[in-house]
Amino acid sequence: MNLVSKLPHVGTTIFTVMSQLAAKHGAVNLGQGFPDFEGPQALRDALTEAMASGANQYAPMPGLLALREQVAAKALRTYGRAVDADAEVTITSGGTEALFAALAAVVSPGDEVILLDPCYDCYDPAVRLQGGVPVHVPLEPRDFSVDWDRVKAALTPRTRMILVNSPHNPTGAVLTAADLQALADLIRDTGILVLSDEVYEHLTFDGDPHQSVLRHPELAARSFVIGSFGKTFHCTGWKVGSCIAPAALTAEFRKVHQYLTFCTFHPAQVALAKVLAEQPDHVSSLPGFFQAKRDRFRALLADSRFELLPVKGAYFQVAAFDRIREGNDRAFCEWLVKEAGVAAIPVSAFCEHPLPRPLIRFCFAKEEATLQAAAARLVGL
Ligand code: PMP
Ligand code: GLN
Repeated sequence: MNLVSKLPHVGTTIFTVMSQLAAKHGAVNLGQGFPDFEGPQALRDALTEAMASGANQYAPMPGLLALREQVAAKALRTYGRAVDADAEVTITSGGTEALFAALAAVVSPGDEVILLDPCYDCYDPAVRLQGGVPVHVPLEPRDFSVDWDRVKAALTPRTRMILVNSPHNPTGAVLTAADLQALADLIRDTGILVLSDEVYEHLTFDGDPHQSVLRHPELAARSFVIGSFGKTFHCTGWKVGSCIAPAALTAEFRKVHQYLTFCTFHPAQVALAKVLAEQPDHVSSLPGFFQAKRDRFRALLADSRFELLPVKGAYFQVAAFDRIREGNDRAFCEWLVKEAGVAAIPVSAFCEHPLPRPLIRFCFAKEEATLQAAAARLVGL
């Protein structure tokens, strides 16, 4: 067979590779990002109830209205933005589907999409599958902030979209209000759209509120804003996400969504709508909950030879390991999982070009016992 790959440089994702290695070596898995604890019991009860009471056929194509209304209410409560649940919110099969559908909706062959490296691994292939051209612009290696002059220098008449992610996977950096203003200034008077991956929107620390593009009217008017209930309710395996975008963008987005998946797992939508309505405090408890995990993990590793970089959001700790071993981050992760029994993710998996200093990522969305077991293996290295 003369099969021409559409993604010749893509292998199996690093998350799958590292989770398989972790299982093989009986390692503590701080690699792939997922919590090892459960979300609210009421959510699982509501899911069972939804299935028992017959929510087992197709959900409405744009998503259950009750859930879209909850997403809109949360956007108003959290970011002060009035969103039309009917025309501007779509429920998707995870943040991943939402990212793909937004790109497929607006990126044509030859269009350039700016990605800020390191960036989440699905962005680049999703752009390429549309015939688009990913343009990787590095974040500042010092603190992973955006150098907007560098972004400006990368713009061309073919630039269709800029993809931003805050809180940031893998580095835990966050965008500031000044960043949003700089982005708005940059794309004013252009046709450039924004794809804002905000799946960690409720995981920000040290009292800093999340700077959603929804807070910025000019940006909100040309953005797709991606959310994930998997992150917000500790149920990554449910794969339910959302996309908020102005009506005209949402209309194009739904043209893709309706043929990509048509709709998303119905009972989960019933359950999420119910728990969002009944427990609005769940979301507001997340920053404190995850900040405590961040602080605990950092304290447990304080006596290790890892250098822990600052974490302002999301549930990842990036670390330098050059005091422990020489070599690149992939080789280090392979050594770490086999010899120390802890799985991590090499940050180079998120980059087109290697970083000036190799780094690895640990996920700290774990029970106390898991963090302790990992630390016991990491501290002596
Ligand atoms: N964006 C980022 C930055 C992520 O880390 C993830 C998943 N961990 C996603 C998107 C995808 O979210 P989902 O699991 O809801 O598809
Ligand atoms: N987003 C998760 C992470 O960054 C992994 C999701 C996946 O395995 N595709 O670790």
